[in-house]
Amino acid sequence: MTSYDVLIVGGGHGGAQAAIALRQQGFSGSLAILGAEPYPPYERPPLSKDYLAGEKEFERLLIRPPGFWAERQVALILGEAVTAVDPAAKTVTREGGGTLGYGTLIWAAGGRPKRLACAGFERVHTIRDRADVDRLLAELPAVRRVAVIGGGYIGLEAAAVLRKLGREVVLLEALDRVLSRVAGEPISRFYEAEHRAHGVEIRTNTGLDSIVPGGVRLGNADTIAADLIVAGIGIDAAIGPLAAAGAESGNGAHVDQYCRTSLADVYAIGDCAAHENRFAGGARIRLESVQNANDQANTAARAIMGAPEPYAATPWFWSNQYDLKLQTVGLCQGHDDLVVRGDPATRSFSVVYLKQGRVIALDCVNAVRDYVQGRKLIEAGAAPDKPALADTTVPLKELVGQP
Ligand SMILES: Cc1cc2nc3c(=O)[nH]c(=O)nc-3n(C[C@H](O)[C@H](O)[C@H](O)COP(=O)(O)OP(=O)(O)OC[C@H]3O[C@@H](n4cnc5c(N)ncnc54)[C@H](O)[C@@H]3O)c2cc1C
Repeated sequence: MTSYDVLIVGGGHGGAQAAIALRQQGFSGSLAILGAEPYPPYERPPLSKDYLAGEKEFERLLIRPPGFWAERQVALILGEAVTAVDPAAKTVTREGGGTLGYGTLIWAAGGRPKRLACAGFERVHTIRDRADVDRLLAELPAVRRVAVIGGGYIGLEAAAVLRKLGREVVLLEALDRVLSRVAGEPISRFYEAEHRAHGVEIRTNTGLDSIVPGGVRLGNADTIAADLIVAGIGIDAAIGPLAAAGAESGNGAHVDQYCRTSLADVYAIGDCAAHENRFAGGARIRLESVQNANDQANTAARAIMGAPEPYAATPWFWSNQYDLKLQTVGLCQGHDDLVVRGDPATRSFSVVYLKQGRVIALDCVNAVRDYVQGRKLIEAGAAPDKPALADTTVPLKELVGQP
């Protein structure tokens, strides 16, 4: 049986960065990435943006050039998922039955798109990996009208691209506004208006009954006609084999501040890792972002190298829709107040989220300076006056010292 000093399960953002960081930090042991997908590590965000739009070929999504991994002596073992972990024997088993040994295991398996239990849902597309998008693009030439289920970032990004590709788009959101899980009302209303201005029909408060031939049947028995249906309704952490092996878990694999799971010599990072985050008031959460995957990979690598540093990175995220670049820093969940800085009608503004007077997050739409300077407010725990925050003539960096 082949064995690796460090075996990384999952060749996405977190898995790739863990291997890169280990080699950068001087790790000289044997190292492999074991990935379910048949491709070397690639960037996922373009899947609902330029790759879906046909503006970026797959080769330009690769996180490193193809030769990089062999040069760094990182074995890529691709195309078969891990189905079991034996923490006592320190082995993993793959779909085909093969077994590999590990000294240290890094679980970086990301998540799988949630699916609804309703009739016909097996015909619904999701956007999580390259194969998903290739399947969708193969059907698209015969498609005139698309129904997008879910008004989160992925649903909205897909809607924007599909409009650009000339398709009619109707977006169905179960709650009373888009982006309700991740942003405040001013951001939701702004994006709803933008999408409507680009011709997307947005229906909020719209529950789903089933997928029927030719469309979607709603909870109120109306039918929405659609030739193709895409859902973006969140993910479930891909931790089945780890949880079955006894790792403490809930909504993700529970990890400590060094990304260690409850199993000896097993780390978990990225979308699948439930960690206590100080930007969420210490609550145990999963973050689904490239930033979190990369920074947790670095944290795990440092711990493995014997130079541990607790995970404390400031969360950030971005989303591109039409010509709008949204940049988010901090976590707005739990805010009790907010300030709109600038006029949304100019299509360049920010929303500053406050909790007990302190800045905890910003959503910045075409407002890079606010994003860069706002990060400092969050990290400093600043509590500036609301009128000053709203005044775009006052740079945010001048408010860092307040109070
Ligand atoms: C369409 C889309 C758009 C996005 N846009 C943005 C964005 O704009 N900004 C942003 O910050 N984030 C964005 N994200 C989120 C970001 O891509 C993820 O947070 C990030 O990829 C998480 O990295 P990860 O390594 O945890 O998981 P992933 O990158 O998902 O990698 C996990 C890998 O593990 C593999 N795997 C799963 N199970 C197994 C198994 N049992 N055995 C072996 N391999 C397995 C999977 O096939 C996958 O290749 C987007 C995600 C998607 C899907």
